[in-house]
Amino acid sequence: MDRDDAMPDPIRAGLAEEGFFGLTVPRAWGGDEAPAEALAAVLAELSRESAAVATFLAVHLSVAAAPIAEWGSDEQRRRYLPAMARGATLGAFGLTEPGSGSDAGALATRYRREDGGYVLDGSKMFITNAGSAGITLVFATRDPALGHAGISAFLVPTETPGFSVRQRLDKLGIRGSETTELVFQSARLPRDALLGHEGSGLKIALAALTGGRVGIAACALGVADAAFEELQRLAKESPEDWKRSLVARAYADVRAARALIEQAARQKDRGEPYIEEASSAKLFASQTAVRVASAAMDIAGPAGAVAGARAGRLWRDARVFPIVEGTTEIQELILGRRLVGT
Ligand SMILES: Cc1cc2nc3c(=O)[nH]c(=O)nc-3n(C[C@H](O)[C@H](O)[C@H](O)COP(=O)(O)OP(=O)(O)OC[C@H]3O[C@@H](n4cnc5c(N)ncnc54)[C@H](O)[C@@H]3O)c2cc1C
Repeated sequence: MDRDDAMPDPIRAGLAEEGFFGLTVPRAWGGDEAPAEALAAVLAELSRESAAVATFLAVHLSVAAAPIAEWGSDEQRRRYLPAMARGATLGAFGLTEPGSGSDAGALATRYRREDGGYVLDGSKMFITNAGSAGITLVFATRDPALGHAGISAFLVPTETPGFSVRQRLDKLGIRGSETTELVFQSARLPRDALLGHEGSGLKIALAALTGGRVGIAACALGVADAAFEELQRLAKESPEDWKRSLVARAYADVRAARALIEQAARQKDRGEPYIEEASSAKLFASQTAVRVASAAMDIAGPAGAVAGARAGRLWRDARVFPIVEGTTEIQELILGRRLVGT
């Protein structure tokens, strides 16, 4: 997967067969309704082997199926969730644009009301799964002058006329998880493509991302765990004090990351506010993944930089996690504002 940057079909088929695509989807719509804590455990375990597979599933469940389950009408749930739970329809989440990422409220993809439906124009960048997705949750503004109140969320089926995938990006890490640019050229949507109500788009996006962060933190934890295993293996081959120190620090960090993720997931499962916990878990787990994978690279030496080296792949995979679903600086911003005030 790392070399070819493609997910083999049997992996997707296997995930579907084992019921992974419906793990957290409500039972009423064909899923297992598993709690966030179970999802985090599953994603961390999958990510120990493949961060790409874990990210593929995390996006489908946390930021595509979950918002449909939470904000969708019964008709929208009936139309999409059972197929998503079976793995027949893959979900994607389209918020980032070539000109807006961290400041999601500044997005420029426009929509207008026309003939009882909506027409979208613009583009989205770095969208996971979208090249193979059956349904993408897309955020667009009626008028940028309206600010956050102008943003709405739309359910965009892949076959929508005027909607296309322009390019698939050749990434440093999590290769095999596809990341694409999406284009909307007078893309026509029916009235019932609107998720929630007009103007509620940013609220839906931010709520989805808070939940998504726990899953992404778990994906980062899986990479950190795998990197720890590699670090320990390499250190044992020729033990020295500086290597023991790296292993000791990594051991504590990986356990702390796991504890933060479990705390955030449990709080979500109890229906309690968990914004600080989700940001803390995402911030710490993603940095832990980078730190532990860098330590494995330090011990591996030049062998870690050769194509096919496990330490090198984990380091490249790890580096993606401080970026996706809110960068490290954005987690600091969220936490700082909530803990200190604006
Ligand atoms: C592999 C991958 C998969 C992705 N999948 C998706 C997806 O499925 N859907 C989707 O919508 N997006 C996706 N993204 C996009 C990702 O969410 C954005 O890249 C991220 O939010 C950052 O936005 P940006 O790239 O525009 O960077 P910018 O917002 O331009 O940030 C650049 C740098 O500036 C810093 N910065 C920005 N604002 C501030 C501030 N106020 N204070 C301090 N520092 C700041 C950032 O932390 C960052 O270091 C993906 C990205 C990657 C790499």
